[in-house]
Amino acid sequence: MKNENKEKIKKLNWLGFQKKERLERIQMLKENGFLSDEFEQILKKNENLPLETSNQMAENGIGTFALPFSIAPNFIVDGKDYAVPMVTEEPSVVAGCSYAAKIIGKSGGFTTEILNRKMIGQVALYEILDFDNAISMVLENKNKLLKIANDAYPSIVARGGGAIDIEVRNIDEFLVVYLIADVKEAMGANILNTMLEAIKTPLENITNGKSLMAILSNYATESLVKAKCEVNIKLLSSSMEKSIETAKKIELASKFAKLDVYRATTHNKGIFNGIDAVVIATGNDWRAIEAGGNAFAAKNGKYEGLTTWTFDESENKLKGELTLPMPIASVGGSIGLNPSVKAAFNILGNPNAKTLASIITSVGLAQNFAAIKALVTTGIQHGHMKLQARSLALLAGAKGKEIDIAVERLLESGKSINLENVKEILEKIK
Ligand code: NDP
Repeated sequence: MKNENKEKIKKLNWLGFQKKERLERIQMLKENGFLSDEFEQILKKNENLPLETSNQMAENGIGTFALPFSIAPNFIVDGKDYAVPMVTEEPSVVAGCSYAAKIIGKSGGFTTEILNRKMIGQVALYEILDFDNAISMVLENKNKLLKIANDAYPSIVARGGGAIDIEVRNIDEFLVVYLIADVKEAMGANILNTMLEAIKTPLENITNGKSLMAILSNYATESLVKAKCEVNIKLLSSSMEKSIETAKKIELASKFAKLDVYRATTHNKGIFNGIDAVVIATGNDWRAIEAGGNAFAAKNGKYEGLTTWTFDESENKLKGELTLPMPIASVGGSIGLNPSVKAAFNILGNPNAKTLASIITSVGLAQNFAAIKALVTTGIQHGHMKLQARSLALLAGAKGKEIDIAVERLLESGKSINLENVKEILEKIK
C-alpha cells in the first residue's frame, strides 16, 4: 500500500499550482485524477446554488452569497492522496494549510482513528417527585423506549442504524434522558430530534414528570476522531540547529495553549480556520462542528488548546495530535442540493462520513501546524500582510497586473498596509 502510494505521489503534479490561473488549476485537478468530466464543467462554469433551490433552503431569501472556493493539495490521509476543497474568505488560510500538508506529506502524512460514531440527544424532564424511582423506571422501560424511538424513524433502522442505548442522569432539578443513536452517513440532527420528540410523552408518563425540551446535543462525545502526524524536523529549516529550535518552540506553543485561555481560544480559532473551510465546502453544519469542538476543548474543566505537539529528540520528529468530535455527514441536510458541494465531494473521491471526518480532522491539525510554526518563527504577519495587501489592492480597484505591482510597491515602501496607502500607490500606477 505504502509503495503504491509512493508511486502515485510521484505521478501527481502540483507544480506551481498556486501561481496558475483558475482554469489551469481545475485542469491540474483533472489531470491528477481528482475531478470527473461532469464536475470539471461545473467548476469551469463556476456553477453555483440555483436561486430556486436556495429559496427552498432558507427563509426570506433575496439571493445567494458567494465565497472563495479553493484547493489545498498534497494531503495524505491514511495513505491516500487528497486535494482538499476549502471555502474561506480569510487570506493565508489555504496557503498555510497547503504548506503544512506538503511538509507533513513528505513525512508520511496523517494517520487517523475513528474512536466512535454515534449521536447523542436528550430529553430534559422537571417537576420529578422521586428521582430514584424515575431513574429506575426509565431504565426498566429502556427497550420499550428504544422501540418507540426506532418506530418514529424506521428508514434509519432499515439502513442498519437507529437508537441503540438510553442513559439517565439527575442534574440538579432535572432528570436528563440521553438517547444514543447510530445515524449512519447522516449528521443525524433531524433523525434524533424526531426520535426524541417521540419518546417525550412516554417519558413524562413513566417518570410522572414534565418534559422541558427534546433535542440533539452538539457535544458529540460519541463521534470522536483522532488525527496524528509526525514531522521530520529536517523539513522545518535548512539548518539543523534552527529545526531543533523550531520543534522545541512548537512543543512550547502547544503547552502554552493548554495553560492560557487567551492563547487557547486563538489557537483553536486557527484550527477551525481549516476545519470550517472544509465543513462549509462539503455542505455540513459548521456551527455544530464548532460548538462541539469548543465544548470538547473545555472537557478537563478549563478551556484548552485542542492540539498536542511533542518534540521527540531521539527520533528527530515533531509529533502532533488532535482529537475532536466530528459528527460530519456525507448525506442529508443541504449536501445533495448545492452543485459546489457536490463538486467538493467529487474532488475528495466521494468519501463516506468516516473518511470525511478523518480528512477534516487532519486539516485541523495541518492548519494548527502552519499557524504555530509561523508564530514561533517569522511571525504571522510575514505571510499574512502580502495577502492582506492583495485584498486591499482589489478593494482599491486594482485590475490585472496592477494588483501585483501595487502589492509589491506597498510592501517595498515600508508604509502601513492600509487602504489609503494602496489607493495612493494605485493612483501613481494608473
Ligand atoms: P436529514 O434530515 O437530511 O436526514 C438524513 C437523511 O438522509 C435521512 O432521512 C435518510 O433518509 C437519508 N439517507 C440516505 N442515505 C443515508 C445513509 N446511508 N445514512 C443515513 N441517512 C441516509 O439530516 P440529519 O438528520 O442528518 O440532520 C442534519 C440537518 O439538521 C443539518 O442540516 C443541520 O444543520 C440540521 N439541524 C441541526 C441541529 C443542531 O445541530 N443542533 C438542530 C436541527 C437541525 P431516508 O433513510 O429516509 O432515505
